[in-house]
Amino acid sequence: LSLADEVKARLRDVQDFPRPGIVFKDITPLLADPVLFGRVINAMAAPFRGQHITKVIGVEARGFILGAPVALALNAGFVPARKPGKLPHRTVVERYSLEYGSDGLELHQDAILKGERAIIVDDVLATGGTAEATAKLTSQLGGELVGFSFLMVLGFLDGAKRLGADRVRSVITL
Ligand code: IMP
Repeated sequence: LSLADEVKARLRDVQDFPRPGIVFKDITPLLADPVLFGRVINAMAAPFRGQHITKVIGVEARGFILGAPVALALNAGFVPARKPGKLPHRTVVERYSLEYGSDGLELHQDAILKGERAIIVDDVLATGGTAEATAKLTSQLGGELVGFSFLMVLGFLDGAKRLGADRVRSVITL
């Protein structure tokens, strides 16, 4: 079995979560398998090895779980992108619209220095709104965004086009 097939076999589809009509991809069975978890982290880091990445930005909350070990694999620092009001120090904030309503993300102002080479990590790329907001925060701080590493891209939503398809990497496409 390829890594992609093993990952697909360990994702759990949960119907009508968090709202009716949504099929939620639950990654907890994958995280519970240390061998597969390790292979996934290695695969998410691989496209960015040797690219002098100094910061990996993980998006709350599953982007923390994947982003922190990817950061260590790349010898980079880890930066959490959090929902508004969670980070204790001074922040930059970006609001974005969702299917229903809006949300926001924050980074600490000193999380990324001018010219630092960064990547953004999350579990799922859907519309790209979340990742795009995180990219804008990175630019606001003067960071150089090298790319995005996702566990899965939901291909039918065109999120990768929105982010620049050549900068988007993922272990699987659904
Ligand atoms: P986007 O902003 O539409 O690209 O949605 C991506 C965000 O929603 C990410 O932070 C994901 O963690 C979350 N997300 C969307 N769909 C799913 C899913 O099926 N499973 C887990 N997370 C999801």
